[in-house]
Amino acid sequence: MFANRVNFMAVETPDYLLSIVIPMYNEEQGASECVRRVRKVLQDIGCRYEMIFVNDGSRDQTLEILKNEKAQDEKIKIVDLSRNFGHQTAISAGIDHAKGDAIIVIDGDLQDPPEVFPRLIEKWLAGADVVHARRSVRHGESALKNLRAQLFYRIMSSISTVAIPVDVGDFRLISRRVADELSHMSEKRRYVRGLASWIGFKQEIIDYEREARFAGTPSYTLKTLMGLAMAGVTGFSVVPLRLGIYLGVALMFAATISLLYVVYAAALHLLIADWAPLMVLILFVFALQFFCIGIIGEYLYIVLENVRARPLYVVRKIY
Ligand code: UDP
Ligand code: MG
Repeated sequence: MFANRVNFMAVETPDYLLSIVIPMYNEEQGASECVRRVRKVLQDIGCRYEMIFVNDGSRDQTLEILKNEKAQDEKIKIVDLSRNFGHQTAISAGIDHAKGDAIIVIDGDLQDPPEVFPRLIEKWLAGADVVHARRSVRHGESALKNLRAQLFYRIMSSISTVAIPVDVGDFRLISRRVADELSHMSEKRRYVRGLASWIGFKQEIIDYEREARFAGTPSYTLKTLMGLAMAGVTGFSVVPLRLGIYLGVALMFAATISLLYVVYAAALHLLIADWAPLMVLILFVFALQFFCIGIIGEYLYIVLENVRARPLYVVRKIY
């Protein structure tokens, strides 16, 4: 807990607007505590700020509680989505509505401690455009969930086309220009941590201890987690589409070796099974088939890239 705290000595009143984006889905038990804790940290920092709560189709009293809080605090904004669109979309909606010079996305269940804000802001003020918060320790999560997460992050980082930091979730600060780029990215199946990494600029990482939920139960189920994992893989890796080519090449190699052996055995009149030549033929056919699937995969990837319509490049500056 204390590792997350840094004394933030504001020499003068910082002159920037900070937006905090907080997705909320059925968080009635923790919503008020979340407002209180986030507000306390922001008041200590002393900058101008807005708190944007995205109500992602909650079926409990979350919206009513947030409206109550808003009635007492004009710095609170509520983006109330028409139904449950999912965490990644809720985050994107919040970023789209944020006006800040810097935007911090944080979970509404207080698993990400707001006391880390000053450290994120410090890096941003030092020139970073994306500051990822990396979970060094996870409190209050089962060993199975930890193992699953560890495994996923490592597989993802080894197959991904952009460097997405390991053990980084959606707790991060992004600069205005990164938020603008994100809002222009129209792809529907969003993996925000991947997009934030893709955008580039100066990326930094800070470590923090992930806490246990303040209240309530996680809404991520195995099914929604799989959905997130698929969004990550399909959005940022070409490996599954290239699998056909890899298999095709491997089988072609095996088929060639087998063919050479069968010819060699025939030449020396060695005893081999009479189905061996047939096996070689089958290997060749399979190799060709996988190869063709791989080629289709390659075309599909080009179609995917065009449909996804990410910008071709992002300019840092023109001199
Ligand atoms: N959340 C959301 N929409 C959803 C699921 C979750 O806005 O469909 C919010 C939720 O209220 C929380 C954050 O996203 O603030 C993370 O969700 P959760 O705690 O369930 O995920 P975990 O911490 O287990 O990854
Ligand atoms: Mg959580």
